Amino acid sequence: MSNETLKTGDMPADEFRKYGYEIVDWIANYFEHIDEFPVLSQVEPGWLTDNLPASAPESGEDFGAVLADVDKLILPAVTHWNHPNFHGLFSTSTSSVGVFGEMLTAAFDMKGMLWRTAPASAELETHVLDWLRQMMDLPAHFEGIIYDTASVSTMHAIAAARERAGFRIRDEGMSGRGDVPLLRVYCSEHVHSSIDKGVITLGLGLRSLRKIACNERFEMVPEKLAEAIQEDIAAGYKPICVIPTVGTTSTSSVDPVEAVADICEKYGIWLHVDTAYAGSTAILPEMRHHFTGRPVEDDETDPKSKIQNLKSESGWERADSIVVNPHKWLFTPFDLSVLYCKDLSVLKDAFSLVAEYLKTSDEQTVKNGMDYGIQLGRRFRALKLWFVIRYFGVEGLRSRLREHCRLARLFASWVEESPDWKMMAPVPFALVCFRACGGPHVSKGVTSDADLNAHNERIMNEINASGRAYLSHTKLNGKFALRLSVGSIRVEERHLKKVWRILNEHLGAV
Ligand code: PLP
Repeated sequence: MSNETLKTGDMPADEFRKYGYEIVDWIANYFEHIDEFPVLSQVEPGWLTDNLPASAPESGEDFGAVLADVDKLILPAVTHWNHPNFHGLFSTSTSSVGVFGEMLTAAFDMKGMLWRTAPASAELETHVLDWLRQMMDLPAHFEGIIYDTASVSTMHAIAAARERAGFRIRDEGMSGRGDVPLLRVYCSEHVHSSIDKGVITLGLGLRSLRKIACNERFEMVPEKLAEAIQEDIAAGYKPICVIPTVGTTSTSSVDPVEAVADICEKYGIWLHVDTAYAGSTAILPEMRHHFTGRPVEDDETDPKSKIQNLKSESGWERADSIVVNPHKWLFTPFDLSVLYCKDLSVLKDAFSLVAEYLKTSDEQTVKNGMDYGIQLGRRFRALKLWFVIRYFGVEGLRSRLREHCRLARLFASWVEESPDWKMMAPVPFALVCFRACGGPHVSKGVTSDADLNAHNERIMNEINASGRAYLSHTKLNGKFALRLSVGSIRVEERHLKKVWRILNEHLGAV
């Protein structure tokens, strides 16, 4: 290999500019033509692996060739989360300014462990999370910290609850001790699996997780929670944390946080609210009642008005911790999850550990991100959220979220009016759960629940395989239900009309 081709330094600035402009053009074209792609990647498992060289190149390659391979090899294997007809799971998408945030974050490449190693990250994070807190009208005592995902935010919240329960588990651990009873965590049957994974990771074990029954609207029944806690206390167990969800993963149902907060207060239990999906809608005054439990009119007042200040705390305002994911429904590219805590020092007590080489003279006066979790280095994620909030403004974000909720209700109204389809759950936000029922246009013989389950599953699989739209599913009381989530920054009414047309095309073809 000649010395001329050996690349030991970074890409020269001119070359960087050339490819940088090309990549920006590429992304602009991608967003402009996003709805021409199949939503779900059409490749079979192993396709990309089979097309990649088995080992790394010995000499550096021309970057033009690398970019050409993005079109040839990567693009076919992309499932397009940004596609306006991505309605599966929760529909999430990035805004273009969010991409700019990621570009600059990568360029700075700072590791936000200490204030000193990344002052911009440390201070912007605190500041932008305070903006978001105000936008959601949460009380001023909530302080936030950014993690990658809600799974990690919730795991940290449970760790804080465990710390506050006593038992010195941080130092003594849980194994080989006879003085720690079974520690209990409570949530509903419809929660996200991240809660199960949190208790696994923290060594509490799945046995510690007690799932509380729901009513016909898929909301946790507070009386059942109170009964479970009393039963556990009588059995010598220690309840440490209750996790109601506002916007459950399965149906987006809303657990009664105010009633749950009363129970937590009575028994001195940590209250963690999982609103990873729906939390963004707290920026809409007309949606706040889902979070606070107050009547709609009370929450529709201007947050800055005096009346608002006189209101006593209610619902999620009484929580010890809350998780909200701007990467789900605030047009911020994955990943960015926020954990708000009433008292962040509990988290610090659980996790702070300052090795000699990390000691700084200013640690009493600054916030060092590494003190609040298991990570040492932390990405400069606040930048992209700052870009998003400044670019759209709070009113821009509100109006986009309102439009999503309107589109979901519109879609639900088509389902309600059709004899062939049936709603399966209420629509508090922008997720519609529905299914084909035994209406007049369903093929003969498709009548039992098992038949209808298979029928709906087939409809979903056919549509997903076609690449024209993507839907996912849940099971509600044993019934297979289709889930249509409206959340893309690019989704318009015509996209909903399209998916409704496709659903009806697939309805009867058994
Ligand atoms: N909580 C809820 C209610 C969710 O819906 C989800 C994901 O959809 C999560 C937590 C987990 O989110 P993440 O992927 O950020 O861990």
